[in-house]
Amino acid sequence: MTTSETAAPELVTVHLLPVGPVPAAYFRAAGHGLARTFLVHCVVEDTIQLPPEAYEPSRRQFHAGALLELVRHHAAQQRWTGKTLGLTVADVFLPRLNFVFGVSSSGGSAALVATARLHPEFWGLPANPASLNQRIEKEAIHEVGHAFGLGHCANPTCVMRPSNRLLDTDRKSAALCDACYERCTVAR
Ligand SMILES: [Zn+2]
Ligand SMILES: [Zn+2]
Repeated sequence: MTTSETAAPELVTVHLLPVGPVPAAYFRAAGHGLARTFLVHCVVEDTIQLPPEAYEPSRRQFHAGALLELVRHHAAQQRWTGKTLGLTVADVFLPRLNFVFGVSSSGGSAALVATARLHPEFWGLPANPASLNQRIEKEAIHEVGHAFGLGHCANPTCVMRPSNRLLDTDRKSAALCDACYERCTVAR
């Protein structure tokens, strides 16, 4: 006999943390996707500042690893349970990668999504708020999926498929495939 049928459902919290000023619409997009996918409760927290020491002037980008560590540290200081997703409008990089849309550690408490390169305008295309929101939603689900222990998925439509280019993000759906859903115990 298992106890899973009788356990009271209890929602895990995902704290949405603005790292520097972030438009409210971005949180709505991320929160909507996370709540639908993982059945979590999302809370928007007070903004923290982008740390100048994480800025690399020669690249005009912030170090994604340093921002992720800041998010993790802040969440621990605040004694937040569940997961914390940092959101920033900054452009971020990791060593050996020109840029990343987001970063997290598998099974960790924190994740980060950077929206700068999710804008069509960044690539010389006309603004498209609906497309931007979809991309934010997908990247938020992807990075928080890692925090919930999910790895990368080869299914082309699965949100856990890695995105190295914007085209990758646009091609995948905003949903977990059946196999990832089965693997992700928080969604049930
Ligand atoms: Zn990934
Ligand atoms: Zn999958």
